[in-house]
Amino acid sequence: MEGLMMQYPLTLTMILEHGYRIHPTKQIVSILPDKRRHQYTFADLYKRSKRLAHALRHQLGLGKGDMVGTYAWNHHQHLEMYFGIPASGAICHTINIRLSATQTEFIVNHAEDKYIFIDATLVPQFEKIRSALTTVRGFIVLNAPEDFTTTLHNWQHYEELLSRASEDADWSLIEEDDPCAMCYTSGTTGQPKGVLYSHRSTVLHAMSVCMPNHANVSFHDTMLIIVPQFHVMAWGFPFAGIMAGARIVFPSMHMQPESLIRIILAENVNKAAAVPTIWLGVYAALKSGGIKSIPLKELIVGGAAVPPNLIENFQQEFNITVVHSWGMTETSPVVTMGRLQPEHASLSDEQKITLRARQGQPLFGTEIRIMKEDHTPAPWDGITPGEVQVRGAWVIESYYQVKSRDNFTEDGWFRTGDVATMDPQGYMQITDRTKDLIKSGGEWISSVALELSIMTHPKVREASVIAIPDDKWLERPLACVVLKDPEEIISHQELTEFLTPHFAKFQIPDQLRILLEIPKTSVGKFDKKEMRRLYAEGKL
Ligand code: AMP
Repeated sequence: MEGLMMQYPLTLTMILEHGYRIHPTKQIVSILPDKRRHQYTFADLYKRSKRLAHALRHQLGLGKGDMVGTYAWNHHQHLEMYFGIPASGAICHTINIRLSATQTEFIVNHAEDKYIFIDATLVPQFEKIRSALTTVRGFIVLNAPEDFTTTLHNWQHYEELLSRASEDADWSLIEEDDPCAMCYTSGTTGQPKGVLYSHRSTVLHAMSVCMPNHANVSFHDTMLIIVPQFHVMAWGFPFAGIMAGARIVFPSMHMQPESLIRIILAENVNKAAAVPTIWLGVYAALKSGGIKSIPLKELIVGGAAVPPNLIENFQQEFNITVVHSWGMTETSPVVTMGRLQPEHASLSDEQKITLRARQGQPLFGTEIRIMKEDHTPAPWDGITPGEVQVRGAWVIESYYQVKSRDNFTEDGWFRTGDVATMDPQGYMQITDRTKDLIKSGGEWISSVALELSIMTHPKVREASVIAIPDDKWLERPLACVVLKDPEEIISHQELTEFLTPHFAKFQIPDQLRILLEIPKTSVGKFDKKEMRRLYAEGKL
């Protein structure tokens, strides 16, 4: 016997329809690449997404399962693609604009993109690889000036495409298990791999993100979407925002700390999501600009470990709560979020910061287990580390057209490659990536713990710790730092004294390198593979 309730498909069009019916006058603001402020409503988004779906079907001849690439900044047009492309039955393949030309060429050909929607400012990057693209029939250019020209083949203006389209696109044929979007991993350990999201997984993820214990998104919020729309669908926040009726603000290419602060002040933004590097920059700019208060109330921060002093500084000086989150491209991405509970009220300030610096608890809809090297589950004791394995309603089942099952266990869990401990209340703490682990004389050293600690030193802006080969211990940690003020050098001796109260002697890095910049991946994370390569070539 089955339950006697309706089968109501969980599709992205349902989110769009809901936003249109219930919050039609809610605003979406974009600060466009040419700095113009654009504003329209959920009703406008709905109508233009319908036009886009219609244009894809009837002008470009696309249908179910066709891949359509986007190569764009964060703005309302990119949001129209998030909805309009899947609404036509096609798949919205967001391409990371920071990948190398070789990687971009690889993923466009691998995905077999039929058309690319591209911001005019990014066209030169694509002109370089156009002759190597085997499946792209043409380009739709966004935000182009009137006198715009390009060597890209078969191109047209986005607004012209929409102006020829009708608003009565039929999206009744979309089913919840259909693919809606694809995002490639950043490919730090080989070629990028495609993660193909379904309508259902994306809707469930967005619903969970909205919940009060999670990102707590509601119609009271004005959200600034800083996480690039080309990176894991901007962490699903645009979908969550439309679903909940939040006012949404996009900064397009204006991601420098001063620009973000200007936007936050002008648009009265109370919630924003981005990686720690962005918030380190914003904090420094607030201080140097002498700005004492800002409308922000909550930051959702993930993608890399958040330094505890950042959490503390925002709380104490600006009354802004940092909510630490963890996830991956393969997990849509959000799996954990860290908020304090009523029983934590009696903790000391220091204990509260320590707990909030953990990556948080699994969201409803996901499960985490920590597996030891002997393939048995680690206890949730906050001490025993193991590999993080995940399953859930928005977790990858297999990569797009990749046969290898290396990242999946036989009993159906996704192997994340991250190493963590879990405390008795289910707060996870990431200690490393399996491939970045440092094993010195048979003992593990957490590079993340060292980095977070070094970044609390007043002279240090950024720190990254890598394993380097060692004759006696096999591996030893090497610390690389970027200084806040290049004149104020930190010595190895000074660093050692600073770390000594917090680490065992064998864990303290034997060497220190002062760099002008730490190599970063295409999504802004420390690129440890590149650092190890530079070290091996004597260039670090
Ligand atoms: P990506 O798929 O590019 O989003 O990268 C996912 C990886 O980023 C994870 O496997 C982690 O190694 C890292 N990561 C994401 N969030 C956090 C976090 N809050 N703390 C530490 N590492 C994180």
